[in-house]
Amino acid sequence: MILRFVRGTPEDVVQGVRARLEREGHRTVRSPERERPILAVIGKIKPAIFVELERDPAIEARVKSDIPDLVLVNRAFREGPTIARVGSVRVGGDDVVIIAGPCSVEGREAVLEVAHAVRDAGAHILRGGAYKPRTSPYAFQGFGVEGLSQLKAAGEAVGLPVVSEIMDAADLPAFLDHSIDCLQIGARNMQNFSLLKAVAGSGLPVLLKRGLAATVEEWLFAAEYLAAFGAREIMLCERGIRTYEKATRNTLDLTVLPLMREWTHLPLLVDPAHAAGIARIIPPLSRASIAAGADGVAVEVHPDPSVARSDALQALLPGEFARLVAEARVMAAVTGRRLHPPPGP
Ligand code: PEP
Ligand code: MN
Repeated sequence: MILRFVRGTPEDVVQGVRARLEREGHRTVRSPERERPILAVIGKIKPAIFVELERDPAIEARVKSDIPDLVLVNRAFREGPTIARVGSVRVGGDDVVIIAGPCSVEGREAVLEVAHAVRDAGAHILRGGAYKPRTSPYAFQGFGVEGLSQLKAAGEAVGLPVVSEIMDAADLPAFLDHSIDCLQIGARNMQNFSLLKAVAGSGLPVLLKRGLAATVEEWLFAAEYLAAFGAREIMLCERGIRTYEKATRNTLDLTVLPLMREWTHLPLLVDPAHAAGIARIIPPLSRASIAAGADGVAVEVHPDPSVARSDALQALLPGEFARLVAEARVMAAVTGRRLHPPPGP
């Protein structure tokens, strides 16, 4: 349950309610909101205590989550949207952000070339995988730590923060050592709970992809794991789910966007590239994502997809990407938003 106090309730009153609940064995979490105190109460509240809370004039509303235990990521836990800061880029709120880069980091020069192209076209965050979750053990697995170093160097050279996928908690020190700005949890690891816990404690923002066959509830609970173990800035990213449809790699589920907006305060991103798996249909899907309310779009770019070491079919050419950004700008305006300004130093 989420307790929303009357705006301006003194902190000692909030702490009194909190102490009362904790004496009864409840775990409580105080929302970072200052003006209007909000308290999440984990677990079912005993009827006698509930009656007390109902009579408390300092508590304006008691919001029962439709999904029990889904509290920290629940819309009611925050007054407004959560803004995740990736470097100087603010994800969530009014602006729309563009994340772009190669599927895999393929070398120092190669990633630098893509970094220049996507920065010049208007991207805000540079992506690139150093640890790749490949279906075949014989496929390119990524350059690991060296890839992180190459990605970060390219990001610094063009002035963009970087995001990269972490697959193993043991690699976390390498991500921190290389000042990776945002940790991506890939679709295949959405319910790798030990990885979620480790990443949650890192202090870095987390981009959480939806699992290949995850329901919205399971996805939100994965985000709740991150929040419960200390993550503050979590972004959810729809990237297509498995269906019977074989014409595309996955099925992009934009249906969930307006619904998720009602359920959670977290920023919502869409990765149409891994959903479609076909480069030419990614621009219209990006426009549709923004129209459906996405806070950002993540795509893959390669100057020569014929030699890309992974996900060649969904790689956009730099020129195609530049057009996608121009269209995103128009689409953001149509929906009463704007593209995020270019990241500052
Ligand atoms: C990726 O972003 O490169 C990736 C592997 O994505 P997903 O986890 O969505 O398949
Ligand atoms: Mn990829």
